Amino acid sequence: MLKKILYTIWIAVFLLFVIYTAKNTNFNTFLNAVENKTFDLRQSMIIKSGYKKADKDIVIVAIDDASYEYILDKYGEWPLPRDMYAKLIDYIEAQNPKSIAFDLMFVKSIKTKPGADETLAAAFKKYDNIYTAMNFDNQSVELRKPVELPERLSVNVTNYSQNIDFDSLSFQNCRAILPEIIKATNNIGMINVSRAEDGILRKMPIFVKYQGKFYPQLAFKVGMGIIQEEEGYKPQEFIIDRSSNLLLNNRKIFIDEDGGAILNWYGPTGTYQQISMFRLIRAIENGTKDSYNFQNKIVYFGTTAASLFDIKTTPVAKVYPGVEVQATYINNLLDNNFISKVDKWVTVLAGIILAVITGYLVITIDSAAIVTLSFVSMYSVYIMFAYFIMKYHNLWIGIVYPLMLGLIVFVSAFVIKYIIKSRDFEQQYLLATTDGLTELYNHRYFQEQMKMQVEQSKRYETAFSLIIIDIDFFKKFNDTFGHQAGDAVLRQVAQLLKQNVRATDIVCRYGGEEMSIILPNTSKEVSVSTAEKICKRVASKRFKLNNHMESNVTISLGVASFPEDGQTPSEIIDAADKRLYQSKHNGRNQVN
Ligand code: GH3
Ligand code: MG
Ligand code: MG
Repeated sequence: MLKKILYTIWIAVFLLFVIYTAKNTNFNTFLNAVENKTFDLRQSMIIKSGYKKADKDIVIVAIDDASYEYILDKYGEWPLPRDMYAKLIDYIEAQNPKSIAFDLMFVKSIKTKPGADETLAAAFKKYDNIYTAMNFDNQSVELRKPVELPERLSVNVTNYSQNIDFDSLSFQNCRAILPEIIKATNNIGMINVSRAEDGILRKMPIFVKYQGKFYPQLAFKVGMGIIQEEEGYKPQEFIIDRSSNLLLNNRKIFIDEDGGAILNWYGPTGTYQQISMFRLIRAIENGTKDSYNFQNKIVYFGTTAASLFDIKTTPVAKVYPGVEVQATYINNLLDNNFISKVDKWVTVLAGIILAVITGYLVITIDSAAIVTLSFVSMYSVYIMFAYFIMKYHNLWIGIVYPLMLGLIVFVSAFVIKYIIKSRDFEQQYLLATTDGLTELYNHRYFQEQMKMQVEQSKRYETAFSLIIIDIDFFKKFNDTFGHQAGDAVLRQVAQLLKQNVRATDIVCRYGGEEMSIILPNTSKEVSVSTAEKICKRVASKRFKLNNHMESNVTISLGVASFPEDGQTPSEIIDAADKRLYQSKHNGRNQVN
């Protein structure tokens, strides 16, 4: 009965907990933070396994420390005069790259050399595979007026997903790049990023919102240019389905609730081919050709120099240049391997199933070692499953929530099992030491207690007494009124004995209609007077035999005490027995 109640309460509490944790946002934030760390760990392990290979066609032209120094040395200033970028574009275009993207913002600069900006804008106009960056922000309108961007830079997005909220990717202002470049090209992508609360960049926006319109991210725009070129796919609008997937030809890109696509990493920094920009500048200046060939490459310009550092912290490296994030993004888009999150309720369900198995194991298996081993193995298999499903299927299934449910069930199941066990033990102990009819201690317990009393009384040099009680003419009583009535009397005599002794006295059924009382720390005189009191009380009591009849019985008692009547339990019992016999012999209903 208690077992059933306990289990029912337990299951109810567990289910309430599941519902509560699934809905409580604070708790979820905490779990997500830990879950994110497991994602980082999985990504790092997958990278170490060498399973993923970065795209060899992506090359970074790095404005590294050497290039930065070279530019300051040669041109005495940063930024590099814009006409030099135009020359770099011409230089690379001559080798037929797939595309050239600048993870740089060509904003107005007072140092601009006359005509240089226009030269760069002209280069943008000349080639349709050149991309550049712009950034939205939430700067106050008093500092700068938000610019009106041409309609052609935005895209149409229809979002059927209830889960995605573009709020955190909506901006009020814009750091506009040179109007000449905006005029010259449509290939302007945004470089806003989305970071988790721990500052780590795990997702990248696909679209960001400005003045109510959607603008594509730079890497997405560059990748779409290649997809259009290679697959002939140019959508009029982008559709996000109910399951939060952006549909792109044969691709499905999962978009998380804050509008970001989860990046799948290929390696720490230096994964992509890199060439220092100064090498190209030097080749251009000297009219020579650098050994690196850009044919069919996706070329990304970006800063990696310490002084210009565009630092991001990613799951795979604390310091990761933004341009490499862009490269990873395009790589994901072309390989179609962005990470998809497994639906939250699937994770919750997996957690419940594992927890139920855990509870079942703990309750049914006796050995704690085997249970613990099974528990650890089961969750290890689950974690391995979570790892491999990410490695081979780019799926992110939650680890932390199922593990937490499992641990809670594991511990609580042990507690409940222990409560039930200890209760069973108590019951068994009671069963083993008491007599069913009278609920007095049984003969075995009596013998144990006698031994203990003798030992203790010896050690502490105290006295103790024993009273043995026998009901008078009980055979005749049974014959007259029947055994049932006899049993009723036995029970009532037992009750009466218990009520008339101290709590520390031990009342036992010695056997048949004989009972005994052990009185610790009690001298003979006190015991004899207790026995006499009991004798009188029994004699004066009307015992109920059944619903209609009452009767009187009497008892005879024999008292013996340690140390005067014996040194061992059997000597003392013998002495008490003899006194009892004397009481019988002297006419019963008395104490000796
Ligand atoms: P006395 O002790 O006064 O000499 O006479 P007595 O008739 O009580 O004699 P004895 O002690 O030999 O008899 C014990 C009787 O107690 C025998 C049996 O019928 C009865 N008896 C023993 N155990 C039980 C029991 O559990 N229930 C009932 N109803 N009777 C019992
Ligand atoms: Mg007897
Ligand atoms: Mg008797």
